[in-house]
Amino acid sequence: YSPIHVIGGGLAGSEAAWQIAQAGIPVILHEMRGVRGTDAHQGESLAELVCSNSFRSDDATANAVGVIHAEMRLAGSLIMACADRHKVPAGSALAVDRDGFAEAVTAELEAHPLVTIVREEISGLPPQDWDNTIIATGPLTSPALAASIQAETGEDALAFFDAIAPILHRDSINMDICWYQSRYDKVGPGGNGKDYINCPMDEAQYHAFIDALIAGDTVGFKEWEGTPYFDGCLPIEIMAERGRETLRHGPMKPMGLTNAHNPTVKAYAVVQLRQDNALGTLYNMVGFQTKLKYGTQADIFRMIPGLENAEFARLGGLHRNTYIDSPRLLDPSLRLKSRPSVRFAGQITGCEGYVESASIGLLTGRFASAERKGEPVSLPPATTALGSLLSHITGGHLSTDEEPGKRSFQPMNINFGLFPELAPGSIVRPEGLKRFRGKDKTIMKRQLMAQRALTDCAAWLGVPAPVFAQVEADGD
Ligand code: FAD
Repeated sequence: YSPIHVIGGGLAGSEAAWQIAQAGIPVILHEMRGVRGTDAHQGESLAELVCSNSFRSDDATANAVGVIHAEMRLAGSLIMACADRHKVPAGSALAVDRDGFAEAVTAELEAHPLVTIVREEISGLPPQDWDNTIIATGPLTSPALAASIQAETGEDALAFFDAIAPILHRDSINMDICWYQSRYDKVGPGGNGKDYINCPMDEAQYHAFIDALIAGDTVGFKEWEGTPYFDGCLPIEIMAERGRETLRHGPMKPMGLTNAHNPTVKAYAVVQLRQDNALGTLYNMVGFQTKLKYGTQADIFRMIPGLENAEFARLGGLHRNTYIDSPRLLDPSLRLKSRPSVRFAGQITGCEGYVESASIGLLTGRFASAERKGEPVSLPPATTALGSLLSHITGGHLSTDEEPGKRSFQPMNINFGLFPELAPGSIVRPEGLKRFRGKDKTIMKRQLMAQRALTDCAAWLGVPAPVFAQVEADGD
């Protein structure tokens, strides 16, 4: 076989290169560090962790991150193997000795007879004779390559600075307080005038909320984050500082909304939540981009009536992040529609996190290898963590057209909100259990989703299915 080229030797590129080499195909991995650095990386090892040393939960029984770890192990992941070898104590999380981990990934790839590592910056789209290339250059893609990708994909296709509003799980919202309604009952395409979830605030609640926002701890900008705020997407705490009424005339305006639970009392302010995925399991907080610290955010947002028990799939943040509008630009096997000889992998595709980036590298490596061998490209089932994340990236998100020109595709960590619902009737009260509360149902749902994911993933990979313990619900 002629070689496959992988540009970028981070989490995604290293995993992609490994999968390709393990499939028996030569791979050339082009990594610029050693010649040119990034604003966040410190060294020259492949798969360097730029910040925390945690791969998050390793619990494959009821945590979506643990499930994706397990699926990656089933698929022979290099990143997971090196992480397991270099793990440090971290409770149920998988944390690693960062140097040991990155050195191990580098050594494995350097030693592989089918892998060639070239230290160079690729400053434009691949030449025509690279007929099968993966771009895995991450959130800090070098400016020259970013400009070429932007030229190929269109003006607005590459985000250089990212404002993120929190996203929460719909089933953690208290609908005894909140209600469904679009502002002025406006019916959008395919809608019914009830597209948003609304959380009402009275005057005292609003002022307490503003006080909390102003007092909240924010994350300091790093030097490389010195980009000014986008107009029209100011962090909410900055808006609150500019005037106590600013939010009430901005994202929290109550106009055109009538509280279905209390129609005669006009809300003083309203927080709106917008459906975030096609499944309708996740909602984002409209206009709530923030750089408050994570703990502070959760505490403050749970002051909002109806969100007292909110569970967040992702908290808000402001940071530089280069990613493409994948649902529009990529086909189901992550090929650039306008140039199918190029695939994308890692955070640049719109996933978020070390593990997620590596997992998309794993998939892209497998897809590119299958193509090189002339075999059919087999996509992971949508019920798996890998498949759920892939479908978020390649089109599973909800496209909103109420804000023309503003893209709705946002980077996302893996979470159960991306998985398809279980078949109706799957969650049944275990025999002999006295109480079966909402919390028990949620635990059982996660366990069943995890088991379904791992069973389907093993079948997809043609490996034996893992053995599971019975699902549990403590019921006390
Ligand atoms: P990277 O790991 O960044 O790999 C991309 C590689 O491509 C780099 O080695 C880079 O040198 C190389 N490259 C770039 N341009 C070129 C070019 N033109 N030619 C050749 N090589 C090139 N996620 C977490 O889970 N936990 C965290 O704590 C965390 N902290 C983060 C902190 C920061 C500052 C940033 C920016 C992101 C963070 N992330 C975190 C998000 C994400 O998980 C990481 O960025 C992750 O490394 C992404 O993996 P990747 O393979 O897509 O990109």
